[in-house]
Amino acid sequence: MTQPSTAGALYLSREIESAIRSAIDQAQTILCVSHISPDGDAIGSLLGMGWILRHLDKHPTLALADKPAADFDYIPGFGAIVGASGVGDDYDLIICLDASSQDRMGAVYRPAAHGQIPLLVIDHHVTNTNFGSLNWVEPGCAAVCQMLVYLADALGAPLTGDLAVALLTGLITDTLCFRTSNTNAHVLQAAMRLTDGGAQIQEIVARTLQSRTYAGLRLWGSILGHTALQERVIWATISLAQRKQVCARDGDGEGLAGFLVSVKEADIGATFTERVQNGGRVVVECSFRAKPGFDVSQVALVYGGGGHPPAAGCTLTGPLDAVAAQVVAALQEAHRVQVSDGKQAAFGNGAHG
Ligand code: AMP
Ligand code: MN
Ligand code: MN
Repeated sequence: MTQPSTAGALYLSREIESAIRSAIDQAQTILCVSHISPDGDAIGSLLGMGWILRHLDKHPTLALADKPAADFDYIPGFGAIVGASGVGDDYDLIICLDASSQDRMGAVYRPAAHGQIPLLVIDHHVTNTNFGSLNWVEPGCAAVCQMLVYLADALGAPLTGDLAVALLTGLITDTLCFRTSNTNAHVLQAAMRLTDGGAQIQEIVARTLQSRTYAGLRLWGSILGHTALQERVIWATISLAQRKQVCARDGDGEGLAGFLVSVKEADIGATFTERVQNGGRVVVECSFRAKPGFDVSQVALVYGGGGHPPAAGCTLTGPLDAVAAQVVAALQEAHRVQVSDGKQAAFGNGAHG
């Protein structure tokens, strides 16, 4: 068996560790939540936190505002995740995972009911607003699931079985299977601990990164003919009508911005997707990706979103084309500034989700 990683001490200070331990010890009822439009790190860290808490004889409620994709139903405990209607008012502690700001929790967090409850934030976004009463934010980690490897070690939960599958899921999806530039020795060491514990890389990859719907494929096909490339920014707009034409549902065709940025002539890729939110409001979801050394997180932050230097996003209202024109101009300006500052190195701090 691999020895416990020494990276825990690097990323989880004694002070935070004991604050988290006492917050959990004092709590009987715990609500765990993650972000809207949940990705593999959101779902993996939510379910992983559930297994860590159960190891400590707690019975957490695990909640997501948006229904998680059935692709992730191989993670043990998936069926117990509840939506906003399954969330009550009274808890001793709320734990928020992989969300950079309070609004990212969506309808599962009701400030009027939950505002006075201690809120533990565990996140790795550089744009995190420290909105908890206790914040453990570690942008040096590639996924919240990596942070939970260190927390599990500190709290004595074995990195095996159900917990290992949950945590390896977030590590694999946020690093695009160890390909992002923030994949360092600590990430690989954490992944090795989880594979030693029985989680299988190839099974998780087959269920997540290597899996797409036919509608999603056809959507890419219809969009790719209409991409634009100017000033090393490549982008595409995806309207409700285009999605309807190929019968695409939410989640179909995800990951297009990451594909666009692989174009040699571009440093930044962006997609602008029209979507109907719960409640019927039409919004434009903006998704940005940057080559190593370029930073799209600050443009996302300016528009009320967030993320990591190479992968960020925001949600805006307004006509699709107008939003795209305005945001592309901001991305081109950020690109010009970053080139003239000469900041873009060969390898930057990469991250995905
Ligand atoms: P995506 O392009 O949706 O895969 O998101 C890439 C990164 O940007 C993730 O780390 C997200 O957490 C972050 N992100 C995307 N959309 C938003 C948003 N509306 N607000 C804050 N962060 C976002
Ligand atoms: Mn995420
Ligand atoms: Mn993440």
